[in-house]
Amino acid sequence: MPFGYPVMLELEGKRVVVIGTTAVREGKVEGMLAAGADDVLVVATAPRSRLDELDQLTVVVVERRAWRPHDLDGAFLCVASSREPVERDALARAARARGVLVNVMDDIPNCDWSAPAVVRRGELTLAIATGGASPALAKQLRVRLSAMFGEEWSEVLAILRAVREDTMPALPYLNTRADRWATALDLDEAARLVREGRVEELRGLLTERLLGTAGAPTAGTGPAPAPGRVILVGAGPGDPDLITVRGARSLAVADVVVYDRLAAPGLLDLAPATAERIYAGKEPGRSAMTQPEIDTLLVDRAMDGRMVVRLKGGDPFVFGRGGEEALACVRAGVPFEVVPGITSAVAAPMYAGIPVTHRGLAQSFAVVTASSAHGDGVDLERVATATDTLVVLMAAGQLAETCATLIEGGRDAEEPAAIIQWAATPEQRSVMGTLADLSELAIRARIGPPATLVVGPVAALAAELAPAPSTFSPASTSIA
Ligand code: SAH
Repeated sequence: MPFGYPVMLELEGKRVVVIGTTAVREGKVEGMLAAGADDVLVVATAPRSRLDELDQLTVVVVERRAWRPHDLDGAFLCVASSREPVERDALARAARARGVLVNVMDDIPNCDWSAPAVVRRGELTLAIATGGASPALAKQLRVRLSAMFGEEWSEVLAILRAVREDTMPALPYLNTRADRWATALDLDEAARLVREGRVEELRGLLTERLLGTAGAPTAGTGPAPAPGRVILVGAGPGDPDLITVRGARSLAVADVVVYDRLAAPGLLDLAPATAERIYAGKEPGRSAMTQPEIDTLLVDRAMDGRMVVRLKGGDPFVFGRGGEEALACVRAGVPFEVVPGITSAVAAPMYAGIPVTHRGLAQSFAVVTASSAHGDGVDLERVATATDTLVVLMAAGQLAETCATLIEGGRDAEEPAAIIQWAATPEQRSVMGTLADLSELAIRARIGPPATLVVGPVAALAAELAPAPSTFSPASTSIA
């Protein structure tokens, strides 16, 4: 296996040599400097502007000429590039003769080491290596890891270092120390407390747990396990790429995922393979589970000490009954969190080329539901003229009645209107018309749920702003 043994090298106080135009162009000098190198020799003739910049730095010496074997005298590490195979062999030979660890770029036999793709968060370094098999995989994994581990990890690690130093004298034995740390540290809790600015609280908690003055975070002290947590996550309007970074991170640590019909199925791949996946979808007219059943499920699973992600289409607090689920958690004493999502109320019109506000056309918009099943029924007549743009969710089932009610309520029958089905997915379809003829057009086009209705002058902008079908490919089942 090529480059099988991972190490992290200390570069401070050691000579590092970078040779060749490509090595300079690809940022090898900057990489060394970021890792703490303070004695860098650069031997290259181009690129000029980059060499001039590097020359300004006191820790870098630039030699604008061809390399010589003596450039490697006293060096610790060398990165070099050359188009000539003979020269590449010579570079490796000169380095190895002097005991210098060498990497001749894109030339595996002439490399003693390989540089992994890295995500840096302060002192935390996540490194990815594929043995040279797939740089593309390394890059995509780097994107995924950098989404999972945000900037807060730099501070998390700084706190862990400080707590470790503080408690070290009280925990001199390696085994006890390792055991205490294993139960004291809860990664999600640590990251969350730092994100919320509760750094002192985290320090205190860890210290108490390590020194035995408090229980472990989830192992619990009594017979019943401490409750886990429920995270209500907005999945966005259809395309799996439209979830937030925090939502994706929550999925990555889920023990249980309870998901809806409208949450993109591809998102389930972000949860660990071992996570329990439960479908709680409500299709119009029939339900896999009733709302009280869902509430109970969330609370019960969390009471078992599990991390439960409740994945909902769009935003959890926009006609998603997320508020009810949050209340169920509060009442049961289960900690919960809400991660907002992009609501289809704004995104579905957008994907059809309709901005919900537009200078000169619409200074206000309202989001309502056409479905009386959702609650006490909406007084559509009352809102009909109250706002410039009206967005109606759950509109497909009763489009004719909805449009008629709006006209009765005083909305102009000739006003532009549009209905968009399955926005931000490969199945997206939409129909444009007026309040008077839209329902007829929608029936003919067989538009069904899930669909969003937009009424107002802005709907006319779709004629110009709607993405051309050939250039429009919003959805994929993958996420970067
Ligand atoms: N919480 C969701 C809304 C849930 S109500 C959100 O914020 O988006 C369900 C309704 O949302 C559907 O009946 C439809 O009106 C709308 N909707 C959800 N996804 C949609 C999509 N991909 N395209 C069009 N409308 C959608």
